[in-house]
Amino acid sequence: MKKIDLEKFAIQSKKKRKGYKAFITKLENRPPRGLDKMIVEVDLETWKHIDCTSCANCCKKMTPTFTEKDIKRASDFLHIAPKVFKEKWLTFEKKDKDWVNVSQPCQFLDLHTNMCSIYEARPADCAGFPHLAKKKAIDYMHVHKQNLEYCPATLKFIELMKERMENK
Ligand code: SF4
Ligand code: SF4
Repeated sequence: MKKIDLEKFAIQSKKKRKGYKAFITKLENRPPRGLDKMIVEVDLETWKHIDCTSCANCCKKMTPTFTEKDIKRASDFLHIAPKVFKEKWLTFEKKDKDWVNVSQPCQFLDLHTNMCSIYEARPADCAGFPHLAKKKAIDYMHVHKQNLEYCPATLKFIELMKERMENK
């Protein structure tokens, strides 16, 4: 599998994003029959092209949301109190009522290896990211729109969805 070139990805994403967002809006307005089944198949196909260990762009450019359960699990893993965990690394976003990282890249990302240093105890949001094969698919389309900018897997997923729909 080819390594992800993030500079090349940024150029491709910029070029394709507008069209892909319009395609997603079309899906949202008129969801095709069998969409939930289709996203499972396209998700499998996507991961044949994408190697996250050569990317980690989500950990570099975005923040996960931390639930109280996530904070407790990660704090236990690091042998510190949840209060200390929050003080050291998080901020509370009043609008969405979410705990998020204060800065990017994520403090738990090893920038040399692209590995997560709290992998076993990472937030559920990280474990599920980029949420491609989620049901109901239609409820996650707005998430894909947001992630097109940073996630090569999402860009590939939408590219493959578009190809399928056009060849139907
Ligand atoms: S907790 Fe781990 S997986 Fe989640 S953003 Fe940070 S480095 Fe990435
Ligand atoms: S989920 Fe997306 S952004 Fe994160 S490492 Fe994989 S391809 Fe890169």
